[in-house]
Amino acid sequence: MKFDLNKIVRENIAKLKAYSSARDEFEEATANMVFLDANENPFQNGVNRYPDPKQQNVKELLSELKGIPTDQILLGNGSDEVLDLIFRAFCEPKEDNVIFLPPTYGMYGVLAALNNIETKEVLLSEDFDIRVEETLKSATDASKIIFLCSPNNPSGNAFSEEKIKAIVEGFQGLVVIDEAYIDFSGSESWLEKLTQYPNLIITQTLSKAFGMAGIRLGVCYASEEIIEVLNRIKPPYNVNELTQQRAKERLLKFDEVQDEIARILKERASLEKSLESIDYVSKIYPSDANFVLVKVDDANKRYDQLIENGIVIRNRTTQALCENTLRLTVGTKMENEKLIEALKEIK
Ligand SMILES: *Cc1c(COP(=O)(O)O)cnc(C)c1O
Repeated sequence: MKFDLNKIVRENIAKLKAYSSARDEFEEATANMVFLDANENPFQNGVNRYPDPKQQNVKELLSELKGIPTDQILLGNGSDEVLDLIFRAFCEPKEDNVIFLPPTYGMYGVLAALNNIETKEVLLSEDFDIRVEETLKSATDASKIIFLCSPNNPSGNAFSEEKIKAIVEGFQGLVVIDEAYIDFSGSESWLEKLTQYPNLIITQTLSKAFGMAGIRLGVCYASEEIIEVLNRIKPPYNVNELTQQRAKERLLKFDEVQDEIARILKERASLEKSLESIDYVSKIYPSDANFVLVKVDDANKRYDQLIENGIVIRNRTTQALCENTLRLTVGTKMENEKLIEALKEIK
């Protein structure tokens, strides 16, 4: 199927010219230049200047780490902003629709509702795998995006390469693969395949494995053409200076990140093992993420009991295919021990 981005971009967005900020118009700062162009307060305090609207330094570090050119990277105020930009660029309110596969990340539905975009929900299979045929069949001419969350939240599993491939190749619109948890997975990222598929968008985040949920930095990788459209509509200073600084520091210490990922994976294995001895835990779903989904006898009751013990987890019982499930984030060794202790104690 030939993919044509021009048929996907909303008409008003195709015509839109980006707002040109002061920092956009003059980029090449040298040490002895005088900047009187942006009505900033001239007294230095580290954040008195507007941040780089293109976040070039952060992108260069990401580019090196991931092997993707900087002009195929867009940064946002969390993945949530990145996903919202994707909706606004490609989905016409009240006309277009998007497809996602419950149980999955709640933001796809929230953003669709916010942008007045119809949703088509195709359930995953009982073992949380993609039902390829049903998914592709649900698409209409107005279907712009299929969202695949892999590893999936809340089930924890990554989808197989073969199933994702069938969706990416079989759909005429855009496929967004949300790889928020990819660093915890044994499965490969789809980043390497970006050049092969012009309809592919991959989102990642510094909120999970990189340990920086507080700075809000989401990353989007796609073709130059897609990134150009998103760049045109993003708020000019969407990633603040403090975030850019802290992200750079962290990206330069990727070995620390890797070390933490290894420790979390070790803790995940030990948590899974301990959970086997809890008699009312009837199923521990395989996880490619930093959380574990478990099935229990009565999720509402167990959730309340854990709260009484000062432990907050996520009750997923109302989600499709998730009756009586709880989602447990992998914490530190001590936190996980406290969780297991509490799970053993409650009756
Ligand atoms: C946590 C999470 C994110 C991260 O969102 P941010 O806005 O970047 O913090 C994205 N997708 C999924 C599926 C998540 O679970």
